[in-house]
Amino acid sequence: MIRILQRLGFAAGLAVAAHASADTLIHAGKLIDTEEGTVLTEQTLRIANGLVVKLESGYTQAGPADQVIDLRAHTVMPGFMDMHTHLSDQMNPKAYSEGFQLNAADYAYRSVGFAEKTLLAGFTTVRDLGDTDRVTVSLRNAIKQGIITGPRIYTAGKSIATTGGHADPTNGHSHKLMGHPGPKEGVINGIADAREAVRQRYKEGSDLIKITATGGVLSMAKNGQNPQFFEDEVEAIVKTAKDYGMTVAVHAHGAEGMKRAIRAGVDSIEHGTYMDRETIKLFKKHGTWYVPTISAGKFVADKAAIDGYFPPVVVPKAKAIGPQIQGTFAKAYKAGVKIAFGTDAGVFPHGENAKEFGYMVEAGMPPMAAIQSATWSTAQLLGITDEAGSLSPGKWADVVAVKGDPLKDIALLQNIDFVMKSGIVYKQGGKAR
Ligand SMILES: [Zn+2]
Repeated sequence: MIRILQRLGFAAGLAVAAHASADTLIHAGKLIDTEEGTVLTEQTLRIANGLVVKLESGYTQAGPADQVIDLRAHTVMPGFMDMHTHLSDQMNPKAYSEGFQLNAADYAYRSVGFAEKTLLAGFTTVRDLGDTDRVTVSLRNAIKQGIITGPRIYTAGKSIATTGGHADPTNGHSHKLMGHPGPKEGVINGIADAREAVRQRYKEGSDLIKITATGGVLSMAKNGQNPQFFEDEVEAIVKTAKDYGMTVAVHAHGAEGMKRAIRAGVDSIEHGTYMDRETIKLFKKHGTWYVPTISAGKFVADKAAIDGYFPPVVVPKAKAIGPQIQGTFAKAYKAGVKIAFGTDAGVFPHGENAKEFGYMVEAGMPPMAAIQSATWSTAQLLGITDEAGSLSPGKWADVVAVKGDPLKDIALLQNIDFVMKSGIVYKQGGKAR
């Protein structure tokens, strides 16, 4: 036994020596400790083999083979994580008719650019909550394999809805084209369908499950907030997802749909527009995460004012729901609901994810808390606190930096100067590499 331990120790010693010979050293003027919510000054972040090795006080001198990255005029942070993106799509006035014209490959080619923009905006990890044609499963794999550039993706694949629900892909189609999508295509009615739909997502390679528990803004349906799942259906989704190690994210605007979902044990509620006191109590009782997506609310409210941008059935919903979300966020934050950063990128242009920070601060969240919501909180929601969320030894070397101090001016986060993912530099001096 001792000999084995010695051998292991010897091997570990060798590994450390190997690191020391060719490390990357980031000299950080300021570095945010996202676990503690504090700022460290004049630090050296030592990186090897895609991981953070050590955080050293002061500017450590480099060894002969080491590479030094000078971020002494910068604030260095862990890579940001957006818990709500749609990388296979981007909203535009033609999006509704394109659904009848485009194929999986068309969406896939588009998603390549969207993924790159997202990474270069400082988002090294995202949760994709509902795609077209399972495009984000392949996108995730291509990024993992180094074929294309983009963030680390945890995807739900196709969202699950009930018939006529927010994510029923046949809403608004002519009766000739409508058909019955069924659980394979993510449309369920009842417990057996719910189980089948979750298992189908697992089979297709989804990492988690997304359901649309209430009406929504952009679907071709009248109601933007009515409950669309019975509680036993959500329970069946949650129980089945657990069997496969998957979490459940829930689109919800109306309070009744949120309550049913929270009681059924889901992991996060997205948008949460009409949450009332009772809903807030349930959030806190169950420890459910809230993912606000203020950016999407602002965007759809703006575009609803442009004649013809949205189909007529969408306009009143966008006008009513869009402007509410920032106020809901303020209420939830004040009440102490757990908040994880998420934008709904794809409803608005990809790469503009960091605008959300400004909206959060505008609504009363301190800049430090907003940055923590996109790092340490999101790592908790994803269950990856051992790998991400802060710049501690052993974690992924996902690092972003801006010139100046984002705690004084949160808008600086929209201008990311440096991006590293798994130890590889993708952006430096504000330019893609
Ligand atoms: Zn969404």
